[in-house]
Amino acid sequence: MTLTSNVTSLKGVGEELAKKFASLGVYTVGDLLEYYPRRYDDYSHVLPINRIKPGVVTIKAVIKQAKGHFVRRGMHITEAVASDETGSVRLIWFNQPYRAAAIKADSEYYISGEFALKRQRLSIQNPSVELVSEFPVNTARIIPIYRETRGLKSAQIRRLIRESLPLLPSYTETLPAWMIEEQKLIPKAAALRTMHFPGNTDELVEAKRRLGFEEVLELTLAALLNKYELMQEHAISIPFDQGLAKEFVSHLPFTLTDAQKKTVWQIYLDMQKTQPMNRLVEGDVGSGKTVVATMAAVMAMKQGFQVALMAPTELLARQHAETIHDLLEPLGQSGHVTLLVGGLKPKQKAEAHKRIKSGDVGFIVGTNAIIQEKVDMHKLGLVVIDEQHRFGVDQRKALQAKAGHMPHVLSLTATPIPRSLALTLYGELDISVIDVKPAGRKPIITKITSPNSRKALYEKIDQELADGRQMFVVTPLISESEVMPARSAEEVYEELRTKAFKHRRVGLLHGKMKPQEKDDIMQQFMRHELDILVATTVIEVGVNVPNATVMLIENAERFGLAQIHQLRGRVGRADYQGYAYLMMGDSSEPSRRLRALESSTDGFELAELDLEIRGPGAIYGTMQHGQLDLRIAKLTDTKLIAAARSSAQAFIDKGENLVQYKHLMNRVSRLRAVTNLN
Ligand code: ADP
Ligand code: MG
Repeated sequence: MTLTSNVTSLKGVGEELAKKFASLGVYTVGDLLEYYPRRYDDYSHVLPINRIKPGVVTIKAVIKQAKGHFVRRGMHITEAVASDETGSVRLIWFNQPYRAAAIKADSEYYISGEFALKRQRLSIQNPSVELVSEFPVNTARIIPIYRETRGLKSAQIRRLIRESLPLLPSYTETLPAWMIEEQKLIPKAAALRTMHFPGNTDELVEAKRRLGFEEVLELTLAALLNKYELMQEHAISIPFDQGLAKEFVSHLPFTLTDAQKKTVWQIYLDMQKTQPMNRLVEGDVGSGKTVVATMAAVMAMKQGFQVALMAPTELLARQHAETIHDLLEPLGQSGHVTLLVGGLKPKQKAEAHKRIKSGDVGFIVGTNAIIQEKVDMHKLGLVVIDEQHRFGVDQRKALQAKAGHMPHVLSLTATPIPRSLALTLYGELDISVIDVKPAGRKPIITKITSPNSRKALYEKIDQELADGRQMFVVTPLISESEVMPARSAEEVYEELRTKAFKHRRVGLLHGKMKPQEKDDIMQQFMRHELDILVATTVIEVGVNVPNATVMLIENAERFGLAQIHQLRGRVGRADYQGYAYLMMGDSSEPSRRLRALESSTDGFELAELDLEIRGPGAIYGTMQHGQLDLRIAKLTDTKLIAAARSSAQAFIDKGENLVQYKHLMNRVSRLRAVTNLN
């Protein structure tokens, strides 16, 4: 048997069980050894019977014969008595009829379970028992609890892992010796053994540090290698033209914030280089990223380069095209903007293609379909990606093929990512943060409301509408659902349209509608031909309707913190006061998450809190990073992350070659494909 042997080579594992293991992602014995526990139960404190107290206990005692019987139909109990020198205690199992036969009478056992009062008597309930030996696996130690599946329980997984332990020495070290020494890491094999059968909690901390370090190292190494590869590529330098920048700014109806200025300056410095820019601008909703991107664009256009902006939806692309058109108007350049989206009529599209090819168009605005279009963009100098977290190697290569050189790339995101996380996930990107909002922006007033105050709320909202403002209503569902008791867009639309707001103009927008329909509705709302727009989260990112001041979120308890923060960013975008009402599905107590939204409007602060409450999974969830697969490392562990980062850098600086570290190389190449975010 070796690490790559199928699990069926373990004693007692047949095809049936192998299938169950496969459903947990375990195929080989090596996979099994790397199947880490979900948590642990501490049964390591073995006490004499006269000292046990109610709660989880472990004793070492001789079991007298166990007897089972039915107390009534469907209720079987097995009872036994366990004794040591200090006393005796009752053991009781419910509906485990096999227990009696499994126990060897008058033998000494470790017994772990809950000591509690049941049927008026103290007893140890449903204990795990195992004969006393050198190496107990289910009792008398810190016990690993695994993610289980039907018919495959932790006890069985433990036994099989125990059986595979002799293979651990064949685990060759996966990290360079100098790194292990420098970071005082325990060997891989020792870490794996400890993960399953820790001698004490200190040992467990060391094992987790070792394995977590390796995970973060793999991630950062992948990001750094991507970064260095990109730095080898050639880009065309775009010189800074101060006169142009000044002119652009002079036409703005506002002054740039310091954070915007700093960011623009960083971008200009990047674009002057002959290496491609790869910068991420992180800025909370409404922080003014569009104007920053447009300032980058004008510099490129001035040198005769084309700029492509890609938005996640057609809706946003259209909106951006309009905004950019207006921003370029005073420079006499608005005619050089064109929209390129799937929804264009063939004739419009052909026209756009022709103009792009002739170089008449400098600024192409669309969705990422732009790179699929058969359009000649030989003069592409800058690509701006708005609100898209994934822009992989393939897309980048496609652009390079079109332009014949690597364009500068600027990504914009409103997902505020805590710094520790950004450094790990986006190690290959340079990051600018727009951390201040334009002056005079009033923070959005956010209130959690319960359904019984709905009527009063509607009256208040109607006053806003009467004043000429508009409202978004967001629901978690499109249509009514049997399985999920929550309000749907269709239902709420009907209700508002025919009852509470029948004197207002109400529209409906959701993801199942055709692109053209969606677009029409959105346009109507923007032109204020609708007062209320009932929608699903399709409106989450970027939609800009400055006249909208109310965001009503139905079943707010069903939305994530970051999501609600994004949604409320849709209102209060002009001088009017914005309101977000978080309507609960019932009158139950709101969560800490929702409370946080009431008290803070700072996206970064909320993101940190989300990370704390829900763990990195939350962020991966919204960012499609499931594949990053951090199983042990905590992204809140800044010390570990810093250590792994510096080791990754040292690995590269030392001129180490991945080929020498096969395991590391495999992991890193897989991650390079996923971490290529920009
Ligand atoms: P986001 O960062 O969410 O993409 P936008 O770029 O859409 O934000 O900007 C939101 C609004 O703020 C726009 O109407 C924009 O014109 C305005 N804006 C941008 N920068 C400033 C500023 N420095 N002062 C005042 N308003 C600004
Ligand atoms: Mg935006």
